[in-house]
Parts: sequence; structure tokens; C-alpha cells
Amino acid sequence: MENEVVDSKNFIEQIIEKDLADGVYDHVTTRFPPEPNGYLHIGHAKSILLNYGLAKKYNGKFNMRFDDTNPTKERSEFVESIKADIKWLGADWEDRLFFASDYFDQMYEAAIKLIKKGKAYVCDLSAEEIREYRGTLKEPGKESPYRNRTIEENLELFEGMKAGKYNDGEKVLRAKIDMASPNINMRDPVLYRVARMTHHNTGDKWCIYPMYDFAHPIEDAIEGVTHSICTLEFEDHRPLYEWVVTELEYPQPPKQIEFAKLYLTNVVTGKRYIKKLVEDGIVDGWDDPRLVSIAALRRRGFTPESIRKFVELCGVSKSNSSVDYAMLEYCIREDLKLTKPRVMAVLDPIKLVIDNYPDDKVEYLEVENNQENPDMGSRKVAFCKELYIDREDFMEEPPKKYFRLFPGNEVRLMHAYFVKCESFIKDETGKVTEIHCTYDPETKCGTGFTGRKVKGTIHWVSARHAVPAEIRLYENIVDEEKGKLDENGNLNLNPNSLTVLKNCMVEESLADTKPEDKFQFVRQGYFCTDMKDSTSDNLVFNRIVSLKSSFKLK
Ligand code: ATP
Ligand code: MG
Repeated sequence: MENEVVDSKNFIEQIIEKDLADGVYDHVTTRFPPEPNGYLHIGHAKSILLNYGLAKKYNGKFNMRFDDTNPTKERSEFVESIKADIKWLGADWEDRLFFASDYFDQMYEAAIKLIKKGKAYVCDLSAEEIREYRGTLKEPGKESPYRNRTIEENLELFEGMKAGKYNDGEKVLRAKIDMASPNINMRDPVLYRVARMTHHNTGDKWCIYPMYDFAHPIEDAIEGVTHSICTLEFEDHRPLYEWVVTELEYPQPPKQIEFAKLYLTNVVTGKRYIKKLVEDGIVDGWDDPRLVSIAALRRRGFTPESIRKFVELCGVSKSNSSVDYAMLEYCIREDLKLTKPRVMAVLDPIKLVIDNYPDDKVEYLEVENNQENPDMGSRKVAFCKELYIDREDFMEEPPKKYFRLFPGNEVRLMHAYFVKCESFIKDETGKVTEIHCTYDPETKCGTGFTGRKVKGTIHWVSARHAVPAEIRLYENIVDEEKGKLDENGNLNLNPNSLTVLKNCMVEESLADTKPEDKFQFVRQGYFCTDMKDSTSDNLVFNRIVSLKSSFKLK
């Protein structure tokens, strides 16, 4: 039907609405639970915006929780970067910033409860023996000889584990479930291990630490999380999640829902690979604009709006697939198209002299900031006898259909006059160093001149007024067509992923640009003032994306 309003809900929304209708929950709470062991990337952005969006949609709450139960690799630096990234994305946890390590006491109590219910036992098997006893996908596991210890004995031994009586690996606490379960995760999984490690939050208070599969459902339950959304690789862990919250008898226990991870073509998302690129010095830190960490996307010039739009277009699904990087580019172009000024920048300057223009004259041309959005107003751009144009806009011997400058040809200088190429100068290497033109005063832009037409319009900057700048052009860091990985499992890097142009000239309106300002450089693409390296003495711009794309929104 033509006028039917399509209210398509994703599968998670359908679950939530059914739960609310059935009275399973009287509220909705979601959370984002990163491990502080690296920077967030575009995939995490999807998870953050999904969880935050659901909480908002159902008048619920969105919690921020650092999953810092594993003391080995967590760093405070990551805690700060993660918070900054989430704020920047626009997800608001209000006053609900939590650390899983704050729940260690409750987790310990939960373990005691399970022991008292006869649902957990202390096991003396080594890690290797536990693995052997676990069985395989085809064969059931074997019960541990320590499985039938009495509750009293288990309480005493677990107490001893906590008190530091045993060495790392000497004893573990295990759930007593079913060694014959077809799901290996249910074969008496380890809940607690002895590990003498200093924790960034709790210091040396603990020498036992809970395992992820035990800790995570408890964290969710403590916070009153209703829908615990995670990615597909945890699907087989769901029965254990349910076992934990059921045995611990939480009212309105949380439920785990899995969705497919977001993968992007031509970029690197895995923390492991990004870490290696950073450590090997191949990229300039976690925020190198060629990466898709959130910090990198921000530095490159992507906006929170563009990322939100992208995530929305990706949708939520149950099966893994890769999204074309071009879709992300589409989203940023759409966001910047009508909201950013269109300015002139010359990437590879070559001097153009207008021989018949008065030496000292300067005209300030009134130029609209965005021809498609008159609300953006206008600015003055200086025009005078000596200009710079882009080297690729001149050819000594042009091929057919080249409508830009060449000897004898006339073009429009954007926003200004028609100029005709009269001659040019070369240096001893044969490189063109200067182009000489004449202009026609009758052809000034905006005066309604209709006398004759030209086929080409080129951009320029005034040599006397332009500001020097460094411009960085980026390409995808890996080329998916060649395969992301080579035969040795190393990333197949694109050698041209970064091009640094040091001698660019930009119009004077960019002289006082601030970090993260964004522009369209006409005919070139969208650019962003680099937030790390750009200073008033040394302007640096990143190309976010070029103007054209083959990507079409279906
Ligand atoms: P990675 O290994 O890709 O760096 P991770 O899963 O180790 O990611 P965590 O800090 O454990 O990172 O993840 C925090 C949350 O983000 C989890 O709920 C996880 O499911 C989700 N997440 C991680 N990667 C993606 C992705 N590519 N797409 C969607 N969600 C993701
Ligand atoms: Mg992880």
C-alpha cells in the first residue's frame, strides 16, 4: 500500500517490546561494557549507539561500565579515552559510570551463595587437566575428582583461596553444572581463579579474580540491566549467563541478546591489528586518521552525526557481514554538504600572472559560503594580479576534452573573471613555473555577462593573500581486493595510504582556522583542520573524503 507507514522494528526492539508487554520487566536498562584495554573503534560505536538508542527509545537508562575484572592488561589511559569518545559520540550515561571491579565483594558473595547451594566447588585440577577433563564437541567431559566435596569443605577452601593460602593456578572455583552437556561452556566452567596481580582499582586487596562469564551477568544484575546486548561470539555462552542469574535468584534477571559485529571493508578494526600498527610505528598512534578508532575518525574529520547516520544505515542483524567503507564516506559527505563553507585551496600551486591587471590593485570579491545553502552567508575573497592555481589545471599539450587552461584557451577563474592563457615559463628541467594570462574586465562573475561562454572553471588563491598549509591525503590502509592479510597472516598494507603535501596554498579566510574546523575545498573534497598538528604558523588539513563517489544509497 502506498501510504502505509512502515514501522519496522529490529529484532532487539521486538524482544524489548514483548518483554514490556508481558511484564517481564517494568523498565529498560542497557549498558556499554568495554574492557579498558585499547581505544574504541567504529564497531564499538555501533554497540554504544545501539544500547544508548534503545534506552532512549524506551525511556530507560543507559549505563557506562568498565569491564575491568581482568587486571593484566587494563590501563587508565584507555579509561579516559573511552569516556571521551563516548561523550563525543553523544551517548550520555548521566551519573551512571560504573566499574565492574567495584562489585568484587558482591561477586565473592555470589560465589559463596552458589557454594552453599551446592552449585559450586573448589577444584585442584591444573589448568591443563581441566582442559583434558572437559572433553570435546563429540565426547562428553569427565567429572573432576574434587566435584563432590562437601559444602563446608568448599567454603573453607574458597575462603583460603581468598586469604592467599594457595599459589596461582593451584585451585579454582568451578560451577557444578553438567560435564556431559553438549555445550562445552556448561561443563563445570571456572568461576574464580587465584592470581596474584595488582589491580588498577582495587590494588592488592584481591588475589582471586572472577572469570568473565561469571562476572558479567552479575554486573548486569547488580545494575538492574534488562537487556544485555553483546556480539554473536557469545551466543554459546548464553546458557551459562542464564544459569548464573537464575541460580543467584535475581529478581527480573537480565537477559543476553546477541547481534552481529560491524565489519568494514578496506580498514582495520581488530584491536590486535591496530595495536600492532601503532607499536610498529606504521601509523601515528591510535588516532592516526587512517584508522577507524573513534579518536582517528574524529581527527580525520568525521562528525558524530555522520557516524550515527552510518550506524543507523547499517541496521542490526544476526548474521555477520562487511559494510562498504564507501557508505561511511557517503554519510560524512551528506552531513557536511550543506553545513560547511566551500573555500578555495590549491594543493600543488603554480603561479598565474594576469599581465593586463594593475600591479597594486586588490578586489575583494563577495563569495557565497555555500552555494546550496544561502543561510551560510558570504565572505570576501581577495583577487589580484598574481594568483596560484593547481598544477593539474594547466597543460601545455592538452588531450581532447581538456577544458582547463592551455595556451590560447580561456577559462573562468571561479567567482572572478575569464582569463586566457597567453604564454608560460619553464625552468631548466622542463617544469612549468609560471603561466601568463590576460583577463577580460567585462566577464566579472555576478555582473550578468553573457557575451561568450567558456567550458572550464578553475579555482585559485591570491598569491599575495593566500596562506601556506600542509595537506594530508589518505587512502584506505588495506586493499580488500588484494586480501586483507598476506600469506603470512600480516596485513596487506596500501603503500599509498598517506600522501603529505607540504607546499599548499589556501585562501586567507582559513588563516585563523581552529582544530576540527571542517570545509569543502572546492573541486577537491572535504577537509578538516588537524587537531594534533595544526598551529597558526603551520596549518595542517586532513582530507576527510573526496567529493565524488560511486556509492549509491539503495
Ligand atoms: P575488539 O576485539 O574488536 O577490539 P572487543 O570485543 O574485545 O573488541 P570490548 O571492549 O570487549 O572489545 O567490547 C565492548 C563492547 O563492544 C562489547 O559489548 C562488544 O560486543 C562490542 N563490540 C566490539 N566489537 C564490535 C563490533 N565490531 N561491532 C559491534 N560491537 C562490537
Ligand atoms: Mg573483548
